[in-house]
Amino acid sequence: MTTKTTGAIDYAQTESAIGLNWYEIDPNLSKLMDRYVAPADRDWAEGVLRRWGELCGGPIAERAEIIDKNPPRLERYDRWGDEIASIVHHPSAIDQKRDIWNEGPTGVAARDGRDIPTVLGSAFTYLLSQSDTGMVCSTGMTGGVEALVDRYAPPDVREKILPRLQSPTYDGSWDGAMFMTEIRGGSDLAASETTAKQVNGKWVLNGAKWFCSNVDARAIVTLARPEGADEGLRGLALFLIPSERSDGSRNGIHIKRLKDKLGTRSVPTAEIELVDAEAHIMSNPSATESQTRGLNRMMGMVNGSRMGVATMGLGIMRRSFLESAIYAAHRMAFGKRLDELPLVRETLVNMVVAVEAVSAIVFEAASLASSKGDEEGRRLYRILVPLTKFKGARGGLELASQAVEMYGGNGYIETFPTARQLRDAQCHTIWEGTENIICLDVLRAIGKESAHDALLNRVDAALSAVSHSSLSAMKDAVAQARREAQEIIAFIARADDDVRQLNSRRVTAALADLAQAALLLEAAQGELDASGDARKAAVTRFFIRERLGGTGAMRGISEDRSALDLFDSVTRYQPLEPADLPAAV
Ligand SMILES: Cc1cc2nc3c(=O)[nH]c(=O)nc-3n(C[C@H](O)[C@H](O)[C@H](O)COP(=O)(O)OP(=O)(O)OC[C@H]3O[C@@H](n4cnc5c(N)ncnc54)[C@H](O)[C@@H]3O)c2cc1C
Repeated sequence: MTTKTTGAIDYAQTESAIGLNWYEIDPNLSKLMDRYVAPADRDWAEGVLRRWGELCGGPIAERAEIIDKNPPRLERYDRWGDEIASIVHHPSAIDQKRDIWNEGPTGVAARDGRDIPTVLGSAFTYLLSQSDTGMVCSTGMTGGVEALVDRYAPPDVREKILPRLQSPTYDGSWDGAMFMTEIRGGSDLAASETTAKQVNGKWVLNGAKWFCSNVDARAIVTLARPEGADEGLRGLALFLIPSERSDGSRNGIHIKRLKDKLGTRSVPTAEIELVDAEAHIMSNPSATESQTRGLNRMMGMVNGSRMGVATMGLGIMRRSFLESAIYAAHRMAFGKRLDELPLVRETLVNMVVAVEAVSAIVFEAASLASSKGDEEGRRLYRILVPLTKFKGARGGLELASQAVEMYGGNGYIETFPTARQLRDAQCHTIWEGTENIICLDVLRAIGKESAHDALLNRVDAALSAVSHSSLSAMKDAVAQARREAQEIIAFIARADDDVRQLNSRRVTAALADLAQAALLLEAAQGELDASGDARKAAVTRFFIRERLGGTGAMRGISEDRSALDLFDSVTRYQPLEPADLPAAV
């Protein structure tokens, strides 16, 4: 797909994103791997991602369309009228899962006998999300439950279930799921009504859960209030519910119905009732630790899932750009290709810039996910998780909507590839915490853990690495945004609670923009150092102009033609001479 003379990507060479190797046509991803994957793993990661990029852009993407039109269905009873509550998947969904298990991170780790670094895991998720974010829900939930079982399940239960959750092959594997949301609310978990009591030495749970994705999972984690426990969040304990009781019979998990969803239709989401469901309490064996306060333990999984959802949004952003670039290289209007028209050029540039800005924070956060014992890294991760969820989820929705519009009327029609992406993207601003809840979480990270200090320190580190003359105006702009971030933090510290909450979206947006700008700038310096290429500097400049620029009616109105002049470099990944970069931001 590259031209012979310039090496740039030529979107006119294909009419469909499906069938391309999505790793090979994404130089930004390859550069992120150079940046974050340890040198000893880099060649291996390259081979692994080439294979995965081919699968995600090929058979996995093709099947995703089939599965969306043939979603899972509930078969409630067997021929004798006995309840089986079986979820029936289309054969394509089974093939999909087999590929994802066998060729995805778990299969590769087992086959190659190596651990998958978290950054590489995020690259897997990012590529898979470009085809099917519903399937990412299955894999993400399974990984999250695996970590909880590993840490908190009673030893005999752990021994039985963990190998199934870690199975390197689809055959013989068990899925995980997390059922927290009840009918009275998902944000306000303190209102949860599911109860737990001990009967003959075993825990049994009763209650109803209102949103249960991957509902046919064999290992489910949930929250319930043991008899006599405190009201509110502190009284909730974490439980594991296997799909079978210890005597091998069906557990008391009754599926009431499957949700008729707008998107993410490849994963079944249900309403369920727990009737004397046998469960295992999940807590540290240490005698001093409370058996309740289960949400604290659950939050490890929730943070991982929030990162996952951010990466799903990022995947949709990238797919939306790719679809738009290919369509604009073919469709004619007013005697020209769409991608020759100024407004279309600007839209495509803005899409690429948004993708690279969000990927900067997503992969930085992924590199910190396992920063055990490193307090600064832990606090940086703490605040980057809600910032990435905020930007990735909303970015997916925005770019999917732009891709629909790039296709004109065709984009609104289900036989073209953009409509499903828009339907799927809407889920991500809600899953694992709505956007409002994410903004409030940023306030908590600031107020309770001073996590903003770690973010500001990271910005300082990025700024101190920048020395190239072509970046100096951008460096000033980021330094100014950093000073303003300090003012924001000081304002938040003295504001009353209502005012703090009122401003939380603006605070989140400002910190996210600062983090993205600083990391882009650092990467721009890295690329200038490594090869003299100023393409990333151009991307950074567009981001800073758009996100850190001035206010007022004339904002952005100027003689600047860079969206036209730098179009090839930015959207087709063509190297750029530093001299061709405008000096002013
Ligand atoms: C397709 C899909 C699959 C899902 N799968 C699962 C699953 O597998 N497991 C699971 O546990 N849950 C699942 N959920 C549920 C999801 O996590 C919740 O929908 C979400 O957390 C929001 O909860 P809610 O729907 O009860 O909305 P509510 O909590 O009622 O919120 C309604 C609105 O009020 C706002 N709001 C609430 N509190 C505040 C506040 N303090 N300040 C400002 N605004 C506020 C919210 O932002 C939202 O806009 C799924 C949801 C969807 C759509």
